Amino acid sequence: MPDTPIPHHPPSVDRILNWPSVALLLTEYGRAAVLETVRGLLEELRQQNQSGEANGQALTEPVLSARLGERLARAHAARLRRVFNLTGTVLHTNLGRAPLPEAAVEALVLAARHPCALEYDLDSGGRGDRDDLVEGWLRELTGAEAATVVNNNAAAVFLLLNTLALRKEVVISRGELIEIGGAFRIPDIMARAGARLREVGTTNRTHLRDFENAIGPRAALVMKVHASNYAITGFTASVPEAELARLAHARGLPFVVDLGSGALVAQERHGLPHEPTPRETLAHGADLVTFSGDKLLGGPQAGLLVGRRDLIQRLKKNPLKRALRVGKLTLAALEAVLRLHRDPDRLPERLATLRLLTRPAADIEAQAARLLPVLQAALAGWPVEVGIESALSQIGSGSLPVDRLPSHALVITPRRKKGAILRDLETALRRLPIPVIGRIGDGALRLDLRCLDDEAAFVAQLAGLAAP
Ligand SMILES: *Cc1c(COP(=O)(O)O)cnc(C)c1O
Repeated sequence: MPDTPIPHHPPSVDRILNWPSVALLLTEYGRAAVLETVRGLLEELRQQNQSGEANGQALTEPVLSARLGERLARAHAARLRRVFNLTGTVLHTNLGRAPLPEAAVEALVLAARHPCALEYDLDSGGRGDRDDLVEGWLRELTGAEAATVVNNNAAAVFLLLNTLALRKEVVISRGELIEIGGAFRIPDIMARAGARLREVGTTNRTHLRDFENAIGPRAALVMKVHASNYAITGFTASVPEAELARLAHARGLPFVVDLGSGALVAQERHGLPHEPTPRETLAHGADLVTFSGDKLLGGPQAGLLVGRRDLIQRLKKNPLKRALRVGKLTLAALEAVLRLHRDPDRLPERLATLRLLTRPAADIEAQAARLLPVLQAALAGWPVEVGIESALSQIGSGSLPVDRLPSHALVITPRRKKGAILRDLETALRRLPIPVIGRIGDGALRLDLRCLDDEAAFVAQLAGLAAP
């Protein structure tokens, strides 16, 4: 290997491309990307030479090809990276919400790799409807007459309003005009869907008579939105679903409910706080219920609509349904998740989300005790203390906003008050091969271990936490 210093004259592009060490890069990244990177690097070196900023390092083959390799690796790294979610929020929207169960992963890989009967009826050989793949399961699991699926719950609400309330009024309580993170606001969705908002009651109290007085000739729907990400407490009143349904039906209007999370099985069955299920809501008289696929259901991003057959038929005839429909990967994963729900007893072991939500605190505590000495050793060069604290995880994604799940966290506190050591450590954790995402608050960096299911991979990379 030529190892002679070439301080002021970087080698030519052609010469670099012929270096044996660059042959590997050419194989991995292709000629176009390598050529572009070589040119960029040489241009920088030329400018550094002119401005006298060159650091005097010899521009040898090993030095230059190593730099090229780093640049190419950085530029070509996948942008969607796996991370460790140690934030304490299980269904974290920014971290992809529900992790899919193994059965769903297998189903989606199969659908990705091979042709599949997406809209093809294998009995008759005729054209099928992609909704049929999941409608049967959804009917069985919710008691609904019919069901359809769109891209997410926001799309479900949008399609519902646009189909059933275009240029008409939707009567809804002021206490339910919610905003859910990331620009989902009921009044805005309603306006864009072409429906008119008819707010009734006050922020904290709404009575049946408010609805009775508000339903006029222009009303198309009575709507209820599950207050997902907040709770109104104190002097409050709202109208029970069954009463709203009765009133809507007496006036000849459908009663629709946006449930948000919509667990398909009673959460208390698994020791979790109650969350309304689509089955209950339909039993209370709702004509249509919408909910997300990737919240408590534990599946892929999707919006599910279940309820009266004639209303579902109208939704499906709206051309917007075609624009909002889901793809085969979503349907494959969703069907697998729905199938798992048919055996609620084994759901906590099979459904990844539920497994995380029901992880016993003692389990998490034992894991924290195992990891404490490991993290202490890895952070030996950092001016910090590492300890264990009990913590309270949240479900997230607007599910059960006030309830907390007892958990345990590794807590890192700075030895000195001043400085940005926690921020530096947070950054270092984020730069690990599998970035670790924790939470800084009250002068400490906390790693809630509830969602740490791959302990070996977590431990294996800690050695990479170079001291600051
Ligand atoms: C989460 C939520 C939505 C939005 O659902 P996406 O699936 O994220 O589009 C709408 N309404 C309620 C009540 C929610 O909780």
